[in-house]
Amino acid sequence: MATFKAMVIEKTETGTKAGLADFDDAGLMDGDVTVHVEYSTVNYKDGLALTGKAPVVRRFPMIAGIDFAGTVESSSHAGWKAGDKVIVNGWGLGETHLGAYAERARVKGDWLVRLPASMSTREAMAIGTAGYTAMLSVMELERHGLTPASGPVAVTGAAGGVGSVAVALLSKLGFSVSAVTGRGEEADYLKGLGAAEIVERAALTGPVKMLAKERWAGGVDAVGSTTLANLLSMTRYGGAVAACGLAGGMDLPTTVAPFILRGVCLYGIDSVMCPLPRRQEAWKRLESDLDRPKLAAMTREIGLSEVSEAAAAIIAGQIRGRVVVKIG
Ligand code: NDP
Repeated sequence: MATFKAMVIEKTETGTKAGLADFDDAGLMDGDVTVHVEYSTVNYKDGLALTGKAPVVRRFPMIAGIDFAGTVESSSHAGWKAGDKVIVNGWGLGETHLGAYAERARVKGDWLVRLPASMSTREAMAIGTAGYTAMLSVMELERHGLTPASGPVAVTGAAGGVGSVAVALLSKLGFSVSAVTGRGEEADYLKGLGAAEIVERAALTGPVKMLAKERWAGGVDAVGSTTLANLLSMTRYGGAVAACGLAGGMDLPTTVAPFILRGVCLYGIDSVMCPLPRRQEAWKRLESDLDRPKLAAMTREIGLSEVSEAAAAIIAGQIRGRVVVKIG
């Protein structure tokens, strides 16, 4: 294959522009494994990169896309051989290393996770980086010691990608989940994923009290800013919140009160540079703990030519659940 279709971001005088282009195989970056990409996905960070809303891309031209699943074409890495089914999340894909929205990718073998045996490449990308981050968040709450007996947990940005998977995971694990959403019309969808209660987003976007009434034993926060600050002030004594997102803003207008007066813990979740053993554990858990019919219910499939439109929609907070992109 001398050239292949790719979604390429170029630098312009006024910013960046993204579009479908024929990419020359010779332009692929160094790596010891070449992969035939089958599926990718639209994550919030892909939205930022494609719309140019934040300086996610550090090299031009860049093939966008931060995650993919596919089949190894060739490998000089000891751990991988042609025909192996693999997943990549992050490691700078679509930021510093040519990314996923292309029929072919060349990456480091050390970045790859083996596709779980019972999962298709499409299912892996229906989960995508959003779902894998939701799993990392849940694992952190478990490491803290949270169990269903600790009390109800909140998921913010619930109708989005991270939120939908977090709701499905936590409910399957037996937690009573409060889904915090700005889209009341998605109440039935969220209940279908296992939410016990729908909480209007406005309940967490008002003025932040140092300590509010104790409501949740913990939470997964995809929103940041005032929402996270309110969630912390509403977290019960000894509880924990996993912060993984910034859909509502990068700031955090909180005080130390929840930490020093209620022993609340705030855990930071990073999917990009997360060490391999933890990734492997997360994908293993996703194989066993994510209900597949629920995954199917939250997923919509698009083609490479529809990625730009989906990117704008995710930044506008209009995407429900997950968008999987069929590539090869
Ligand atoms: P989505 O756009 O699918 O979901 C975000 C959700 O947040 C929206 O659906 C909406 O949910 C809510 N939301 C959007 N804007 C606002 C706002 N202004 N105030 C309050 N709530 C808002 O994105 P993803 O789920 O894919 O990603 C969520 C966040 O997680 C992003 O910031 C992303 O960058 C981050 N992320 C971080 C990773 C990491 O490694 N730490 C990895 C993956 C994602 P609703 O309509 O239900 O209110």
